[in-house]
Amino acid sequence: MKKNNKKAAASQQEFQQSAVTTLTERGSTMNTTIQEKPVDKVHSLIEEVKAGVASIQSSEEWVRFLDVSSRFWRYSFHNQMLIALQRPNATLVAGFNAWKEMGRFVKQGEHGIRILAPMLVKVKPEDPDSEEERIVRFKSVAVFDVSQTEGTELPEMHHPLKGEAPMGVLIRVKKFIENHGYTVRYEQTPEGTYGFVNASKEIVLKEGESMAQTLDTLCHEVSHALLGHVGDSSLSREEKELEAETAAWVVCRNLGLETRDGSFSYLAIWVSDKDRDAKLERAAHRACEVAKVILEGVEQIAVLAGQV
Ligand SMILES: [Zn+2]
Repeated sequence: MKKNNKKAAASQQEFQQSAVTTLTERGSTMNTTIQEKPVDKVHSLIEEVKAGVASIQSSEEWVRFLDVSSRFWRYSFHNQMLIALQRPNATLVAGFNAWKEMGRFVKQGEHGIRILAPMLVKVKPEDPDSEEERIVRFKSVAVFDVSQTEGTELPEMHHPLKGEAPMGVLIRVKKFIENHGYTVRYEQTPEGTYGFVNASKEIVLKEGESMAQTLDTLCHEVSHALLGHVGDSSLSREEKELEAETAAWVVCRNLGLETRDGSFSYLAIWVSDKDRDAKLERAAHRACEVAKVILEGVEQIAVLAGQV
C-alpha cells in the first residue's frame, strides 16, 4: 500500500539531504556532512541488488515458495481469535486437504482447530412466487497447524545466518546506535521475526540467534531507525523494508559479513517481479547514503577505541 509518491520522485541529492536531516534531528554527535559517494559505486551496488533479487525470483525454489505461500489464506479476525484460543503457538494453519496438496499429512491423534467457514445456503421463500434466497451461514471446519503435520519440508526463503560475526563489530554497531539515544535488548520476538525497533527508541533482537544473524538484524533495525521509519506514514511498509534491508546488506558486507542470500531473498518478498527494478533503485539511493553514515560512525568508534 503506497501512501505517498512524493519521496519516490525526489532526486538523489534530496535523498542525501534527508539522511543528514534525520541524523541531525536525532541529535547526532558526529560530523553529519555526507561526502558524495562516487556515483559509479552506488550504481554498481544498485545493479548488484537488482541482479541478485532477479535471480532469486527466477529460481525454482522461489516459484515453489510463492505457490505454498498462496495456499495460506488470511483468516478473519474472528477466526484468528479462535485459532489463538485453541492453539496459541500456531504459525501456519491450513485444512487437511490443503496440507495434502503440499505433500504434508496430519499426524495421527492430532485434533483439528475448529474455525468457522462461511457458506452460501439456499433458503426456500415463504411466498412460493418469489425467488429462492441465498444467505451466508457459518459451519465449523477443522484446520491444522504446521506443527501437527509431517511430510515434505516447506520452502523457506529466509534462513537465519549461522556462525560468528567479525571480531568486535557487533559491539561497535551497538555502541554507534546507543550514541544516537537507542537501547538494544534481547527477548523472544514474535514468531517469524528477528527483531524490531519501536517508538521508545528500543531495538529488540531475538535472543538465541547466531552472532552473524544478530549483527545482520541489528544493522537492519539501525537502518530503519536512522532512515526515520518509525512512525513515518509517508512511506509504505514495502518501501521501508526495501530501504532498511538494502542498507543492512551494504553495511554488513563492508563490515566483513556476507548476507547476500538472505538479504536478496528478503528483498524479493517485498517486490513483485513486474516493478522490481524501479522500486529497488528508488530504495537503494537512500539506503546507500544511510549505510555510509553507519559505516563512518562505526569506523570512528573503532578509531577512538584504538582498534584500527
Ligand atoms: Zn524491517
